[in-house]
Amino acid sequence: MAQRHLHAHAPPGDLVPVDEARERILSRIQPLAPIELPLQEAHGCVLAEDVVADVNLPEFSSSAMDGYAVRSTDVAAASPEAPVELRVAGRARIGHRPEGTVGSGEAIRIDTGAPIPAGADCIVPVEDTGTAGDAVRVLRPSEEGRHVRPAGEDVRAGQVIVPKGRRLSAAELGLLAAAGHAHALAHPRPRIVVISTGDELVEPWQPAGFGQVRDSNSFTILGALKEAGAVPYLAGIVRDDVDQLKETMLGYVVRADAFISSGGVSVGERDVVKRAFFRRGEVDFFRAAMQPGMPQAFGVIEGKPYFGLPGNPVSVFVSFEVFIRPAILKLMGRQDLYRPEVTAALAGEVSGPREKLQFARVRVRRGPDGWVAEPTGSAHSNLISTVARANGLAMIPPGVETAHPGERYRVMLFRSLEE
Ligand code: AMP
Ligand code: MG
Repeated sequence: MAQRHLHAHAPPGDLVPVDEARERILSRIQPLAPIELPLQEAHGCVLAEDVVADVNLPEFSSSAMDGYAVRSTDVAAASPEAPVELRVAGRARIGHRPEGTVGSGEAIRIDTGAPIPAGADCIVPVEDTGTAGDAVRVLRPSEEGRHVRPAGEDVRAGQVIVPKGRRLSAAELGLLAAAGHAHALAHPRPRIVVISTGDELVEPWQPAGFGQVRDSNSFTILGALKEAGAVPYLAGIVRDDVDQLKETMLGYVVRADAFISSGGVSVGERDVVKRAFFRRGEVDFFRAAMQPGMPQAFGVIEGKPYFGLPGNPVSVFVSFEVFIRPAILKLMGRQDLYRPEVTAALAGEVSGPREKLQFARVRVRRGPDGWVAEPTGSAHSNLISTVARANGLAMIPPGVETAHPGERYRVMLFRSLEE
């Protein structure tokens, strides 16, 4: 299907439904080309090919006990009253090839984890034996396979151990290492350049004069990117100056897999992102039917996806969750792009504009009758502390102006409930 521009379909002034805006953004994002990553770096990345074991795991049969490797037929009649005496023909140590083999009437002293010597088919634990000079006295029988960890019990050579598309987590890394794979072909973590725009901004470590605002968006975005698995690079503050914005972005093109800026996307005179890109057609400016986070920009600049977020700190957080996080996950080759959701009963009133999907910041907890979502404060999009207290975004659909306590809505969880 031909790529439609957001503003071709939705001229400025029209509201684009959130799902539609997100689908159009995602249709322009492709997973980053996979590369061979050392296991240390592959954690959290998505595997780009099936990994097949070329060995059995375990690779050799070994003893599960300290004791003697014997032939089960030799000890079938052993008892404390009538012990079976076997000649000790050698020793099997962990990490070494066994010294000798077990013939009829013979035993080999063996440690836990040591390879089973040829000729033996079971282990007699040391506590079921006594010594008799150079021989061992077996006091109890042991049957074939007893206390033996067979080769190939975990994985068979030729079997797919980790399938393509799987996100590598702790156990997968351990399995790959066990099977001798020190590298994995996986989608790399995207490197994302983050820019804050605004003449009023200062760095958080600088003194803020009257009317100046500390750049918090860079740090919100940095945290959100890390939590999504991306590698953020903070390019700092850019003034409301078209040339400075373009120069900064172009200067980072080779290092970036995508760009995010905040501020300067609405209709004001000073809106730098709009002035820089509106006429060139590389970037679509649109109004998403959501609250907060309405004005948005998305485009592809020099082949790299570019997200222009509004400046208000809560809008930044919510737009990141709604548009950027799924796109980052898609860049990483992930299949499930969305946060988990629960349906929860509101514990307070939430109201907002009727025509928009409202994302209300809530604290979700388990109540006696299911999930409960407590609003964490007012809906104003500049109040970042309401996000810091929340663990979810309750979605109040278009058409509902006021959501009342007790009504149930879907809530996307952006934080683990363990915290
Ligand atoms: P803008 O979208 O550029 O008009 O900004 C909207 C509001 O968000 C203004 O009050 C800005 O001061 C504020 N803002 C913009 N960028 C940032 C930022 N990086 N950190 C904190 N507040 C910001
Ligand atoms: Mg601004």
